[in-house]
Amino acid sequence: MKLDGKAGYPDVEMLIGGKWVMADSRPVYDPCSGEVIGERAHAGTDHLDEAVDAARVGMRAWWELGPAGREAVMVKAAALLRERVEEIARIITLEEGKTLREARGEILRAASYIEWDAHEGRRLYGRIVPSTDDYQLAVHRRPVGLVAGFSPWNFPIGSPTRKIGGALAAGCGVILKAAEDTPGAARQLVQAFVDAGIPDGALSLVFGDPPAISEHLLAHPEVRMITFTGSVAVGKHLAALAGAEMKPALMELGGHCPVFVSATADVAAAARSTAMVKTMNAGQVCVSPTRFFVEDAAFDAFADGMVAAAGALRLGSGLDEATEMGPLINRRRLDSISGLVAEAQIVGAKLLAGGAQVDRPGNFYPLTVLADVPDDARIMREEPFGPVALLVRVRDVDEAIERANSVSYGLAGYAFTNSARDMQRLSTRLEVGNLAINHLMASDADLPFGGVKDSGLGREGGAEGPLNHTVVKTVSTLFPDAK
Ligand code: NAD
Repeated sequence: MKLDGKAGYPDVEMLIGGKWVMADSRPVYDPCSGEVIGERAHAGTDHLDEAVDAARVGMRAWWELGPAGREAVMVKAAALLRERVEEIARIITLEEGKTLREARGEILRAASYIEWDAHEGRRLYGRIVPSTDDYQLAVHRRPVGLVAGFSPWNFPIGSPTRKIGGALAAGCGVILKAAEDTPGAARQLVQAFVDAGIPDGALSLVFGDPPAISEHLLAHPEVRMITFTGSVAVGKHLAALAGAEMKPALMELGGHCPVFVSATADVAAAARSTAMVKTMNAGQVCVSPTRFFVEDAAFDAFADGMVAAAGALRLGSGLDEATEMGPLINRRRLDSISGLVAEAQIVGAKLLAGGAQVDRPGNFYPLTVLADVPDDARIMREEPFGPVALLVRVRDVDEAIERANSVSYGLAGYAFTNSARDMQRLSTRLEVGNLAINHLMASDADLPFGGVKDSGLGREGGAEGPLNHTVVKTVSTLFPDAK
């Protein structure tokens, strides 16, 4: 792939049956300037059918490599990502807007996910069930088959990696439909697998019209599973389609993540670290801390810390190493967040910082802090998916948990407290898939990640990642010479 688009952005092809294909191209935009920076391919149904046909052959070759052979290819792909980190980081920053520092971190994390899955694929053990001497009762783990994976734009390489890693480690084939807003990073990820020696057809990459692609692939008898990261609404739609086809669905959907701040914690440090994490990828992160339930005695200090962080934040192009927060991905997100923030103020929230689009080209929105946000404000119930912190006073951890659990989301949750009672209460009662206490790292390669309630089904990462791409087959054998 040559870097020949504007500002060094590549034109982005699809990979089908081991061949790079440029078809019916569409523009890719720079969220920092709104300008076109390159082109990407756009699939028709013929391309999808070709990818499925190629997977039939490619998956068999992938399976025949055996666990150690698959592990070797995956580890090599991860090493290539590490080697190419600067080139790929520039592509991510150009197409998505996040800072180069964050883009580099995302690529290195993606490499660590692939390595973890690669090694874990060697441990997909079955079991022998105790029986009489005449029988052997065995439980095997088999790959589920061809997986259609759909990844969003906010982690242009991290999310496609989750869609690929567990599936390939389990011996499945994958057709990845990566986000049309950020196709370049997915192309680089798939290139690393090609260069590492993955058999043709075992992994394909397509872009196009998302509903048309998901409907076509889900209805295809060869596609046996769907995995998706994106909004709750689209996830429910896809899970319903999968249900109608009797196919498993792994759904990583939105979050509206609560943070409990106790007066026993180092409140200033909690404000500093949450403000920093809140601004990562301009808040466009499903596990971004958003609803802050702060004990009354800590409220003013915490709010002051957030406001100070908002005032000091450097916005700009992610290509500038001094930038701390880049733009939102597109105009649609900008309008959605502006609307939610305006409505919250109408119903009584106090604006402490930010609150209006930044007056410069591109989709820039500042870190915005709202205090005393009523529970029935739409922004308290709908994920803003942007750099917005909602501060609410609470009496204690029990009130925080009750209000935190009152929404339909349940992805990640956080807490800052020195009280063992608080920690225990949160561990047993907060309705989330991932809880981080006294830090803000909600997931890592070796940990299962995913939501409860509307935030999703199934887990990616950890031992569960590859396991969730397998089916159990029970084989019971009566030995022919048994008496
Ligand atoms: P969206 O749900 O419309 O799109 C998210 C992704 O899903 C995109 O890549 C899109 O191409 C794809 N998509 C949309 N319809 C599809 C379909 N019928 N079949 C297959 N794929 C389809 O969301 P958006 O407007 O791009 O982003 C905003 C919202 O999405 C946010 O509010 C947030 O809740 C959610 N989101 C969540 C995550 C996450 O990490 N869980 C990531 C991105 C977006």
